Amino acid sequence: MANHWFKNAVIYCIDVDTFKDGNGDGIGDFIGLRQGLSYLAGLGVTCIWLLPFYPSPERDNGYDVKDYLGVHPELGDLGDFAAFMEEANDRGIRVIIDLVVNHTSDQHPWFLAAKERDPHYYNYYVWRTEKPPDTRDQVAFPGKQTGVWQYCRTAKAYYFHRFYDYQPDLNTANPEVQAEIKKIIGFWLALGVSGFRVDAAPFVISHKGPEIEKQPHESFEYINEFREYLSWKRGDALFMAEANVAPSELKHFYGERGDRMNMVLNFFVNPHLFLSFANESPEPLIRSLLQVPSLPDNCQWGYFLRNHDELDLSRLSELEQARCLEVFAPEKDMRLYGRGIRRRLAPMLGGDVRRQMLAFSLIFTIPGTPVIWYGDEIGMGDDLNQPERNSVRTPMQWSAEPNAGFSTASEKELRRPVIDSGQFEYRRVNVQAERRDPASLLNQMERMIRTRKEFPEFAQGKYRLLESDRPGAIFAHACEDSEGNAVVAVHNLSPVPVTVNLRLWTDQLGRAVFLFGEDGEAAVENKDLVITLEGYGYNWIRLKPKES
Ligand code: MG
Repeated sequence: MANHWFKNAVIYCIDVDTFKDGNGDGIGDFIGLRQGLSYLAGLGVTCIWLLPFYPSPERDNGYDVKDYLGVHPELGDLGDFAAFMEEANDRGIRVIIDLVVNHTSDQHPWFLAAKERDPHYYNYYVWRTEKPPDTRDQVAFPGKQTGVWQYCRTAKAYYFHRFYDYQPDLNTANPEVQAEIKKIIGFWLALGVSGFRVDAAPFVISHKGPEIEKQPHESFEYINEFREYLSWKRGDALFMAEANVAPSELKHFYGERGDRMNMVLNFFVNPHLFLSFANESPEPLIRSLLQVPSLPDNCQWGYFLRNHDELDLSRLSELEQARCLEVFAPEKDMRLYGRGIRRRLAPMLGGDVRRQMLAFSLIFTIPGTPVIWYGDEIGMGDDLNQPERNSVRTPMQWSAEPNAGFSTASEKELRRPVIDSGQFEYRRVNVQAERRDPASLLNQMERMIRTRKEFPEFAQGKYRLLESDRPGAIFAHACEDSEGNAVVAVHNLSPVPVTVNLRLWTDQLGRAVFLFGEDGEAAVENKDLVITLEGYGYNWIRLKPKES
């Protein structure tokens, strides 16, 4: 059987800039990240996803890359990267990195040459000479962009940019550009990474520029080609796509045989999960799960709560979006781009550990791989004084020491301030304090991660929703492996304690062993299992067959 390590992975996403500063200059770096590995190993993380760390003018948090084969000098150099990789491997932690090839920085040497109409590099980008039409409806960041064409005086032409005007789109249809992308993939695989999170995947393969209007819009065969190259270089390597598309489109990103992306981050279930939290009802979550396609056996969903971007609500109806905004972003500066929320998980859930654990339990048990945004495991807050999406990228809160133990630099040298007031300030919310408290979010997360690893059934694609006598509040599902081992997860979305009768699918089950909570075991009577949950409570249950 092929090695599907990513199905049982626990992925932890890190922005190197804000995780740990190892050289005391106020900016997180690879030396600091290496020091942080013991913490991640203790937590039980099996795979680190690094946000872009490449040389960059840093106008879009490193998503404006000017050299794909290097490390930003502020974060270290290739030697520091290699030392980090070696130690991560020693601890059995894999590393995946961001592959940002929809666009480059306008400072990338390719674009500088293209502007001068260099015959080789000009066609690395997408140009038009005639004045473009109004393209306001095609922008990625409404309110921050006015169109997708920018005039370049040097080239005397307009270049296409789906994102900001300093991020010209690469002409991914050009075989030379495709060869460059393969070179980038091969380079980082040779340095030991286990794969890539493919940034803006639908745009990488979409027809660009004036071609955008033609049918079909995408060339999925590019993914097949990159994947073939990836797997040839490293058989078990992962492609995890960022693809925020309609549910009916998602299956194309995997391909019928699973020969495109191994994993896609599920941007459809994500906002429905938050709608479920807002309504204290499982209905939106169930509805979304029934709409996404089932996957080939060698593929997996990636489930997350929050990430480095805004919580994107655009897959919800207008009424549903309004509901989420009302509950989770009542103030205007909590909202972004007319479609999202720029807050972290803990503040949206009122800092309530029960509700955060309920949320994590859902992404740990719905078949897929959980992806954790750094700091959410200790319940970090956000800083709405920071611009746009930087609100969720404040320094990691390690301890109650100055700068939250993130850096020994003086406070004013910090690239970004630590959160030092309010409910989520670093003296109250930090790793060291939570380590000592058995009931802390951190300790509960560590236990949940350990338990998830013991029950790979949760990672399998096959699951069934279970009926109960409290359908308005309870989300319950069962996952079964090919050998008939079955686990159940049950979640109470409401604040009210409940005793619920779950209906199982077979009368061959005799006993239920609870993996969390005070109760040890219970009998299954005639397919029925009675379970008591606190408000916002959850439990996982191993089912044992009837003794004959
Ligand atoms: Mg530093």
